[in-house]
Amino acid sequence: MTVITPQLVDSFGRTHTNLRISVTDRCNIRCFYCMPNENVQFKPKHELLTFEEIVQVAQVAAGLGVNKLRLTGGEPLVRANLDRLIAGLARIDGIEDIALTTNGILLAEQAAALKDAGLQRLNVSLDGLSATTFRAIARREGLERVLAGIAAAQQLGFEKIRLNAVAILGLTEGEILPLARFARERRLELRFIEFMPLDAEQRWRHDQVLNGETIRRELEREWGELVPVTRTDPSQPATDFDFADGRGRIGFINPISQPFCGDCNRLRITAEGQLRNCLFSMEEWDARRVLRSGGTNAELAQLLRDCVLHKKPGHGIDSPEFLRPERAMYQIGG
Ligand code: SAM
Ligand code: SF4
Repeated sequence: MTVITPQLVDSFGRTHTNLRISVTDRCNIRCFYCMPNENVQFKPKHELLTFEEIVQVAQVAAGLGVNKLRLTGGEPLVRANLDRLIAGLARIDGIEDIALTTNGILLAEQAAALKDAGLQRLNVSLDGLSATTFRAIARREGLERVLAGIAAAQQLGFEKIRLNAVAILGLTEGEILPLARFARERRLELRFIEFMPLDAEQRWRHDQVLNGETIRRELEREWGELVPVTRTDPSQPATDFDFADGRGRIGFINPISQPFCGDCNRLRITAEGQLRNCLFSMEEWDARRVLRSGGTNAELAQLLRDCVLHKKPGHGIDSPEFLRPERAMYQIGG
């Protein structure tokens, strides 16, 4: 007799409680580590899951133990009426935490509606504070709007706003200290993320990875030894440190130099309804087909279980057999 567990446990014993939902593949900038610069082929609207469909998937996932949701993209704030989706997700029994990852460009105008709808946490991507670096990465303008978005969200009283900075050797070294100063002054948490091979133009090279250890040493030269923070959630991807003077916290997400796959509890659904068990997954499970062919919630639940059961032990980026997924970051949802 097959025993069906009510939870999403993979074949390595990892329980999945965290669902990342991409709501669009569109974006208002063109970061080189994510999207092509020109002529991006976006999915037509009818191929994207509707808000009702997203809520249905999240409900079924919640029934299987998922308690955290993160909305992402593409740029989630370019999807119209995102606050309505958040309100729908916030009503699901078992969902304890709803977060959003955004580039911040549209945040100033939307932050109040998002908060009212039930959004609890915000990650804003900010790789540097100089307009030159912003342009070199995003290949569009927008830094001032991002900064205005962060200020607006802080004023509204969002409890936890985190800055995410992708670190790239030869490009963002000069941003490390200014970003840390900015975060300390504004009481924002800052996380540095190593550049992963998910850029649409497929130009990633290992020697462009500015690793977390190098950044840590640079911060310590300025502010003294960082104090490790005890990990309360083993599945959190970042290793956190406090500044010795107690002013601020810094995290390092080091998927390349220190992979954390062994504790991963995340699964993803793309904007057009494909379930993925890893950023680097080569396989997808078609939730949209189930949703649009009159499938039941039990069938959706089975699809979620299948997806999780097929999860590999790790991304294997450094293995000779590593193959990049066909999709780039903006098509998956980071
Ligand atoms: N547009 C939103 C944003 O930029 O925050 C949400 C989607 S974006 C794909 C999510 C996060 O992934 C961002 O913090 C972004 O900087 C990060 N990211 C994108 N491509 C990456 C890559 N190749 N390596 C590491 N992080 C990446
Ligand atoms: Fe857009 Fe975010 Fe990708 Fe940058 S990282 S191109 S902001 S989706």
